[in-house]
Amino acid sequence: MNPSERYSRQTLFGGIGVEGQARLGTGRCAVIGCGALGSVLANTLVRAGVGFVRIVDRDFVDLSNLQRQVLFNERDVQDRLPKAEAARRRLSEVNSEIEIEAVVEDVDATNVLRLVDDVDVILDGSDNFALRYLVNDASLELGIPWIYGAAVGSYGLTMTIRPHETPCLRCVFPSPPPAEHSPTCDTAGVLGPIINMIASVQACEAIKLLAGKIESLSPYLLQMDVWDLTFRPLKIANARQGDSCPACGHGQRDYLRAETRSTLTTLCGRNAIQISHRERRDVDLEALARKLAGVGEVERNAYLLRLKTPDHEITVFRDGRAIVGGTDDAAAARSLYARFIGD
Ligand SMILES: [Zn+2]
Repeated sequence: MNPSERYSRQTLFGGIGVEGQARLGTGRCAVIGCGALGSVLANTLVRAGVGFVRIVDRDFVDLSNLQRQVLFNERDVQDRLPKAEAARRRLSEVNSEIEIEAVVEDVDATNVLRLVDDVDVILDGSDNFALRYLVNDASLELGIPWIYGAAVGSYGLTMTIRPHETPCLRCVFPSPPPAEHSPTCDTAGVLGPIINMIASVQACEAIKLLAGKIESLSPYLLQMDVWDLTFRPLKIANARQGDSCPACGHGQRDYLRAETRSTLTTLCGRNAIQISHRERRDVDLEALARKLAGVGEVERNAYLLRLKTPDHEITVFRDGRAIVGGTDDAAAARSLYARFIGD
């Protein structure tokens, strides 16, 4: 294949050109979270010719994802593939010239620096504030830009953050909103089109950054609503709180240095609880399958094991994490885990 043919429509565009395309080819990015936003981000960046794309996600593909998570299909649901791996397989068929790395891990304070320290830009495909504040800390710590994106219902917003140059997440939103006041895709649903719009803007910002077109980056906190069809670009270029921002002004890394990490997480839209451990484990899934053979229906592949009982479904990953389906009660999830898997 002739590489210049593959990218010809992109190099024709004056903002990129042959030189910009060459820079994209040596560019490296990490997509943190490969759900709805992450699918569009990874898809766009691999097709655009970004040389290295790391796709990090903790979850597996579920039927309710297919409405908006454009990289996945029914086969991935049947095969119980982790999203990161399903994305890698699909995209390596699209562009075999790109190095795509799938990482099936839950991003937290213990691993975030390792997952982003060798990239040029971090893309936010996450679905929760805790992770975004953690990424903001990692970005400031390592001096790597990141592109925030979020969508719920028909509404979304995005912002490009160049550490110590432009306002960081905490300059604009000093602390995460209280959970009871922030709608999630669990409570408000989400439309595919707003995901595509927000992630497309994020991906274009990454392309500008990697192609070296800093002057073309968005100076806005961009808000969009695809139902009302409203677009509000709020100019934040001068909103950097250098004197008062705890993160970029005072150098505090409150999220990176967090002593404790939440071990129980409610999964958006899933009637499920994730259980994770402070120390990573290496679970022998084959042995676990044998242990559970009499308990219920057990399915297993190279990445995970799933136990089905009449009322619940417990999925265990190799790193010891588990997702307990069929409940949104944290205590019930913990006891099911202890009962079937152990402590
Ligand atoms: Zn700041």
